[in-house]
Amino acid sequence: MSIKFATVGCCLFIASCAPRAVELGFWIEPVSFASPRIGDPITKDEFQVIDRIARSEITNAFKDFDVTVTDNRDAFFKVAVTPHLQDWRLLRSGTYAGESRAVAGFGGSGAVNFEYLANGAMVFAPDDATREQVLAALGRGIGRVAIHEFLHQLLPKGATHDGEDRNSYEGNSPALIEGYFGELHWGIARPWLEARLKRKPQ
Ligand SMILES: [Zn+2]
Repeated sequence: MSIKFATVGCCLFIASCAPRAVELGFWIEPVSFASPRIGDPITKDEFQVIDRIARSEITNAFKDFDVTVTDNRDAFFKVAVTPHLQDWRLLRSGTYAGESRAVAGFGGSGAVNFEYLANGAMVFAPDDATREQVLAALGRGIGRVAIHEFLHQLLPKGATHDGEDRNSYEGNSPALIEGYFGELHWGIARPWLEARLKRKPQ
């Protein structure tokens, strides 16, 4: 996914480099969405289901680490799902699935493009998928892009892209069916995460 970075030097303080517990703030901003594929506009209850599925994807990805996923908009690392993202160079919307800004030692913030993921879920869902199944795929898609954006924020200088493994969080693309269905795992970023994050207390 396209990333806009502002990085400064290395860690300014040794303490900021030591493994530690982190909070990831995640929330979905109000959006109205309807399409012929799913019929009526997505309801409030359905948005809650999408949020829950996306949130559990994020929690599961970081389950080995001392990471808490909240809806805190002031969290050190945060990702908001927004109706769409603007590609300012081309002055058109819907180009990016996600983006992040991060400064080593100072956290980061990112966004996930709802419209992009909703279109992806509809494209990749089987023809006979129910509305419920399409929305579940949308929740997974949102969660996986959010995981990738959190990765960019957690590791502004780390290995975060690997096009070889489309089932990894580093190589997965929201333009692939694996972004909505199937299982994903950590790949090349795992050692970086091990160094950066505290292990979950046993
Ligand atoms: Zn990326």
